[in-house]
Amino acid sequence: MSGEISRRTFLRGTMAGAVVIAGFDASLRSWVSAAEIDRATALAEDFPSFDGMLLLDDASRAAAADDFGHLVHRQPLAVLKPGSVSDVVKLVQFARRNNIEVAARGQAHSTQGQSQVEAGVVVDMSTLATVHEINPTNALVDGGTRWLDLVTQTIPQGLTPPTLVDFLELTVGGTLSLGGIGSQAFRFGPNVDNVLELQVVTGEGELVTCSATNNVALFDAARSGLGQFGLIVRARVRLIPAPPNARLYHAFYSSLPAFLSDTETLIDDGRFDTVQGFAVPDGAGGWLFQLETAKYFSPGNEPNDASLLSGLAFNPGTQTAQDMTYFDYLNRLAPLIAFLRQIGVWDLPHPWVNLFVPAANAQTLIGETLATLTVDDVGQGPILIYPFNRELFRAPFFRVPDSRHFFVFSLLRNAVPPTPERVAQLIAANRALFERATMLGGKRYPFDSVPMTKHDWQKHYQPLWGKFVSAKRHFDPDEILTPGQGIF
Ligand SMILES: Cc1cc2nc3c(=O)[nH]c(=O)nc-3n(C[C@H](O)[C@H](O)[C@H](O)COP(=O)(O)OP(=O)(O)OC[C@H]3O[C@@H](n4cnc5c(N)ncnc54)[C@H](O)[C@@H]3O)c2cc1C
Repeated sequence: MSGEISRRTFLRGTMAGAVVIAGFDASLRSWVSAAEIDRATALAEDFPSFDGMLLLDDASRAAAADDFGHLVHRQPLAVLKPGSVSDVVKLVQFARRNNIEVAARGQAHSTQGQSQVEAGVVVDMSTLATVHEINPTNALVDGGTRWLDLVTQTIPQGLTPPTLVDFLELTVGGTLSLGGIGSQAFRFGPNVDNVLELQVVTGEGELVTCSATNNVALFDAARSGLGQFGLIVRARVRLIPAPPNARLYHAFYSSLPAFLSDTETLIDDGRFDTVQGFAVPDGAGGWLFQLETAKYFSPGNEPNDASLLSGLAFNPGTQTAQDMTYFDYLNRLAPLIAFLRQIGVWDLPHPWVNLFVPAANAQTLIGETLATLTVDDVGQGPILIYPFNRELFRAPFFRVPDSRHFFVFSLLRNAVPPTPERVAQLIAANRALFERATMLGGKRYPFDSVPMTKHDWQKHYQPLWGKFVSAKRHFDPDEILTPGQGIF
């Protein structure tokens, strides 16, 4: 067997404490390290050679069995840190032949095990994070690139993606697998509608380039595809000229109807470049509504505050304005997140719920929820409330309400105390809120923590459930990809 060992030993590098896999025992269905290889009974002949590393050690597997939610822990058998796109192709082909499940992990900012895979292989996309090309209209980036790393390179060149997520540490591939919403989406639509081309490794292990004119079915499936059809290894994302500065406005409302109505006015009249909002404690057990908008400008052309704020029904005297660079605007959450990491809030369980609700029912859902919600129910986490224009959400599998305007309503909870009982209570509350939202024409943004049945998923995709299933049969016929979503 020792001749076979050298043939099948594919160590391509070392990491402190990491155990690199050297083979796969096909009869025991287990991975084998170099040290264990002579104990293996039936090494798979077709075990590939990787440019990166396939890891077996406990620390690597435990890290891949956790995510931002810290609620679900599914232990993979191995973690691939790909050194190339071809590593992803080889892994998926090998996994398919050997009936092993695979999931991509961006930065694991989903909250319910969506990027995890029990007894399968997690592909840690963070090692595929190169910005390959930036030109005046688009950038070609690896799927594991964080938006922060992209804008750090584009902004000095006067360029930016038109629409960005609020938290720039999300990956391009993970965001495009969900949808990608943020403060500019009311004007430019979500990230999935601002991507020109994708390179996808399908569940059959084929590397396919797709766009709105080429392999359209895969382009439509992979965008907001929740990792069901392929792994996004590269994306060509749209760029536009970046403004130099932003003036950030805040103002507070006591009235939910006035707040909702003003935010709809603002996404219709487009006087601001960004529109967002939050519910914040009013200090007396109730809630205030905080409008957050920004207007871009270049020095010498400062915005006219009076005209921008005219006609809005916020509580007089609560408005503020603050100038900053465009980059600091995009990265505005960084100081808060550094603080939350420092005080340990980042490590708490996060049973988040993130819903989209038609504008006509926003007041009902949000009003009745906030009537009984306490600050403790969100563990002082933020509550997001802001609207979008439906016509700009075109990627078919990004499921949002069918109404001209719809709102995001998110309870970004910290579970305090961080006990299993408290987590279970909050997840049950998420489920109840999801059911109420669904009755009101709402949809879920499925990176959050809501238990779903197969029937819920069918409803989620209706009337496109049949298309979703046939895309799965076509692109991932053996159903090896991304089981953590629990759809199939
Ligand atoms: C603090 C925080 C802030 C957030 N802010 C926003 C926001 O502003 N806007 C917004 O839209 N969302 C936001 N989200 C949600 C976020 O979009 C999702 O968490 C999404 O999961 C992207 O994060 P990620 O890159 O870490 O991907 P992961 O969570 O690692 O992956 C998400 C899903 O996509 C799959 N996947 C990951 N990479 C790929 C790939 N390359 N190809 C195919 N499938 C892949 C995974 O298997 C998993 O099923 C936020 C989440 C957190 C925790």
